Order: sequence, then structure tokens, then C-alpha cells
Amino acid sequence: MTASNKKGLGDKVELFDDGTLNAKDKDVVVIGGGDTAMDCVRTSIRQDAKSVKCLYRRDKVNMPGSAREVANAEEEGVEFVWLSSPKKFKGTNKVESLLVDKIELGDPDESGRRKPIIKENSEFEIKADLVIKALGFDPEELPKLFQEERLQVTKWGTIKADFDTMETNIPGVFAAGDIVRGASLVVWAIKDGRDAALSISNYLQLKQKQKVA
Ligand SMILES: Cc1cc2nc3c(=O)[nH]c(=O)nc-3n(C[C@H](O)[C@H](O)[C@H](O)COP(=O)(O)OP(=O)(O)OC[C@H]3O[C@@H](n4cnc5c(N)ncnc54)[C@H](O)[C@@H]3O)c2cc1C
Repeated sequence: MTASNKKGLGDKVELFDDGTLNAKDKDVVVIGGGDTAMDCVRTSIRQDAKSVKCLYRRDKVNMPGSAREVANAEEEGVEFVWLSSPKKFKGTNKVESLLVDKIELGDPDESGRRKPIIKENSEFEIKADLVIKALGFDPEELPKLFQEERLQVTKWGTIKADFDTMETNIPGVFAAGDIVRGASLVVWAIKDGRDAALSISNYLQLKQKQKVA
């Protein structure tokens, strides 16, 4: 998505230009059923992919993404392969196909959605030149990444911050956006950024006053 956006804005993107991150003339398979998956399938169509399939382990009723986006994607030629779960990538040097299991839905799980269960001996193969895993993301080990063992994180691995000031447990260190909220929205990142900027300004002014006094 980043490569595609940069290209759209006129940047030189080597991995796009050499075809690695370009869906043109490829059989594309996107794995996942959320909003990111919908962005990936529709971007692949705009890049003139030969075919675009979306693999999702539940059915249409139980998918997390927006129903309108699914309808739009279908109109644009995306094929949804419902109740399917990838098992193995096949190919020599590069991916050539995917082995996929069929799924049946069991009782609702803790999220309220019906639990996907793999059907025995239901395996089938899908041709693919490009596979995009749109399966969400988790934070890295942030205290280790920032080489700051004192930094407190939540049980989800996001940074613990005061939601009024956006200050972390380390005085003078502030955090905002997805790194605090987990996968969220641009509007929240903007709000957090503004709140953090105000708090940083207050923090610095207080420090200055203390220095003078
Ligand atoms: C595919 C996709 C589609 C989305 N669609 C929507 C949508 O339609 N509407 C919506 O509201 N939200 C959407 N979102 C969510 C939205 O993009 C995020 O909520 C938002 O970008 C969070 O902003 P942020 O500033 O917290 O993080 P980011 O936008 O991720 O910015 C973090 C920045 O930090 C940089 N960085 C990372 N590590 C370091 C480091 N160690 N040193 C320096 N820089 C670093 C990164 O390169 C990045 O530029 C989408 C997300 C994805 C992945």
C-alpha cells in the first residue's frame, strides 16, 4: 500500500518499478477480510492485475470489513473465496500457487462470531503470482526497540500513556496514535498528536520556569 501511494504521488519506487510490489498482469490473492484487505484488492484492480481473489476464513455475514466495500470490490471484479484458509505457499524461487483448506463455521467464539473449523480433506489449489497478507499487525517489543526498559506497555504491547496528556510513564516522553491505541484511525492519531503537542509545550514551559526560579 505504501509503495502504491508513493507511486501515485509521483515518487520513484524501485520495488514498484521492478514489478515486485506491482500487481500488473498478475494473479493476486489477498488473505484477510478487513478494511486493509479491501484496500489491497481494490488497489490491485487499479494496478491492472490479471485476477484478484480475496480469501477469507468466515463467510460474508461474519466478515469484519465494511459490507459496502465488499460490494464495491465485487462490482470491480474481485472474486471472494469465502470459508477458505491458506495452508501452504507453493513455488520455486517465487510463489506460484496456494494450498487452501475449506472451512465450516462452528459455534460463536468470545468475539460473538462463528468459529472457523477446517474441513478434513477439503484442500484445493489457487494459482497466484502475488500474495498479500492483510491479517492485521501487532506492536514490536517496544522497550527493546527503543532500548528503554523503563517504558511501560499494555498487555497488547502498545505504549501505556495518559490519554489526557499523552505522556508515558517516563517524564518528558510522549506517545500518540496507533502506538498507543493499537490499529485505529487517522482522526484519533491527529487528535492524540495535537494533545501531545500541547502537553509537550506545557512541559517545556514548566521546565523553563523551574530553571529561571
Ligand atoms: C492499509 C491501511 C488502511 C487504512 N485505512 C484507513 C482509513 O481509510 N481511514 C483511517 O482513518 N485510518 C486508516 N488506517 C489507519 C491509519 O493509517 C492509522 O490509524 C494512522 O496512520 C495512525 O497514525 P500514526 O501517526 O499513529 O502512525 P503511522 O501513520 O503508522 O506513522 C508512524 C510513522 O513512524 C515511522 N516510524 C516507525 N518506526 C520508527 C522509528 N523507529 N523511528 C522513526 N520513525 C519511525 C513510520 O515509518 C511511520 O511513518 C489504515 C491503516 C492501514 C494499514
